[in-house]
Amino acid sequence: MNDAPQPWLRRHPDERLAPWAARDDASRGRRHPEPAPSLRGEFQRDRDRIIHSTAFRRLVYKTQVFVNHEGDLYRTRLTHTLEVAQIARTVAHALGLNEYLVEAVSLAHDLGHTPFGHAGQDALNQCMRPYGGFEHNLQSLRVVDTLEERYAEFPGLNLSFETREGILKHCSVANARRLGDVGRRFIERTQPSLEAQLANLADEIAYNNHDIDDGLRAGLLDMTSLRDITLFREQHDAVLARHPGLTGRRLIHEIVRRMIDTMVVDLVATSTALLDAAAPGSVDDVRVSGRPLIGYSDAMRGHIQEMKKFLYERLYRHYRVLRMTTKAHRVVETLFAAFIGEIRLMPDEHAGHARRFEAEHGDAGRARAVADYIAGMTDRYAITEHERLTDPRRNG
Ligand code: MG
Repeated sequence: MNDAPQPWLRRHPDERLAPWAARDDASRGRRHPEPAPSLRGEFQRDRDRIIHSTAFRRLVYKTQVFVNHEGDLYRTRLTHTLEVAQIARTVAHALGLNEYLVEAVSLAHDLGHTPFGHAGQDALNQCMRPYGGFEHNLQSLRVVDTLEERYAEFPGLNLSFETREGILKHCSVANARRLGDVGRRFIERTQPSLEAQLANLADEIAYNNHDIDDGLRAGLLDMTSLRDITLFREQHDAVLARHPGLTGRRLIHEIVRRMIDTMVVDLVATSTALLDAAAPGSVDDVRVSGRPLIGYSDAMRGHIQEMKKFLYERLYRHYRVLRMTTKAHRVVETLFAAFIGEIRLMPDEHAGHARRFEAEHGDAGRARAVADYIAGMTDRYAITEHERLTDPRRNG
């Protein structure tokens, strides 16, 4: 879709890409056609639009696992997002993939996340069950397609097909039918671009490792029990063999850094072998290759499963985390019940959306506007709204 590159561009964005990478000049384009950018490639423009969006800025006050006000040292959704982008770019560089695209997808992947992490998402999904449910992955797409209001010419950010495809990691066939072009692969059972496959795995590498780091920092996990995880035990032994006296934060960080490295190296080596064997000549070959071509070895997949199981049992279900998630459920349920019962309790702008969506789609439309409002809240905004609605001593 690009015109000839501008004469003052010394490097075309497609330079140095492997044949299987997504390319600017083969992009399936934007929903609202736009002239090619003059100084950047299409995916660079997507990345920049995401960084300038309101939803991106809000990520700094949204929870990953630990609530935002618990401490300043834990990951938030913003720092998580930056770690995902950084890991994804490293792997993309090694495999000749499009770093700009994988960065754009990584930066946008959690834009639709509710306050209070997965607890918030589960609670909102329960509230929305009679109205088509709520899924943060679909909501991320909704944010970039319609909810962001930044441009005169079109609603949303008008991102390229490839970035939108990467944001939509999974969805039901029913949802896929109404999503048009980006939904088609879930009906036809084809693969997304390699950059989309990679962003998904970089997300997993980032959160598994930083949740261990944050869990240790919070005192919810300890080194002895973490040795139940093969990847941790191996790196713990390796670090102590090399630095016998090492303790405290430097020991923890050295282990976590090496675990990330081990996973990234395995991902690059395995994906290289898969790509060499399949030898896709273009991104279209990737889409019909019948299986993902970015992945781990069988051994690493087993190690990651073990790690996830450990984190689920020992961290995500730790009583202190469960107390937080229980409170989060209550806050989201209370907000939803109040707003769906009386849309005028929402600020005028959101009440206006609710009236308009209700006229178009009935009760489901009104509920969707309430979900949009709640999903857009940061942790502390949701807590403040909850207080304003429930504490008679507080002003609205
Ligand atoms: Mg994520």
